[in-house]
Amino acid sequence: MNDARSALVLFSGGQDSTTCLAWALERFDHVETIAFDYRQRHRIELDQRLVVLDEVRRQFPQWKEKLGEDHFIDMGVLGQISDTSLTRDVAFKMEQDGLPNTFVPGRNLLFFTFAAAVAWRRNIRNMVGGMCETDYSGYPDCRDNTIKALQVTLNLGMDRSFVLHTPLMWLDKAETWAMAEELGGAALVETILEHTHTCYQSERGPMHAWGRGCGECPACVLRKRGYETWKAKAA
Ligand code: ZN
Repeated sequence: MNDARSALVLFSGGQDSTTCLAWALERFDHVETIAFDYRQRHRIELDQRLVVLDEVRRQFPQWKEKLGEDHFIDMGVLGQISDTSLTRDVAFKMEQDGLPNTFVPGRNLLFFTFAAAVAWRRNIRNMVGGMCETDYSGYPDCRDNTIKALQVTLNLGMDRSFVLHTPLMWLDKAETWAMAEELGGAALVETILEHTHTCYQSERGPMHAWGRGCGECPACVLRKRGYETWKAKAA
């Protein structure tokens, strides 16, 4: 019914989703990408993702031929209804409930639901997301059980047999770097370092060992720590 050799990757242009893209390109014959503009403060990631896609095509001829259409979804309405520090100009902090105020309620549920609508139309069976439960920020929609439950819901609600893959679910950030190296060697690690965007503050400034960013926001701190741990292990 839907094509088991094809995949749709939730591709935001960050470290995690770029690693997921490489993972999918190694496994499937045809891979498409999808991104969402929800008026995130770090919308610069939406520009960087096109740079990363170009680099993947340029540096990995074996992947180039598998890489298909890119889908870009305007989800401005999510930014309108979300009062969070990712969608408003307010400082990052922890809320009373222990969640950081960067949590955008429903985000991953909506992303996968919209991705499934596209996959349904495109006859794609597999969907891939970079959700991770290991050193995540406590976002409940990154949990393995959330994604598994959503797979069941989507398959019931759309009468398909989608498979939702989350290859990073049980990896920490250091292991995600190791996975990128395994998949695409030094060239992929360099592409991720140089071109992927992680920083919540949209800082692209000077290049650090771990990439570009402010170095202070929660996303930068996580990325920096993961890179340093990976390097220390490899040394
Ligand atoms: Zn930052």
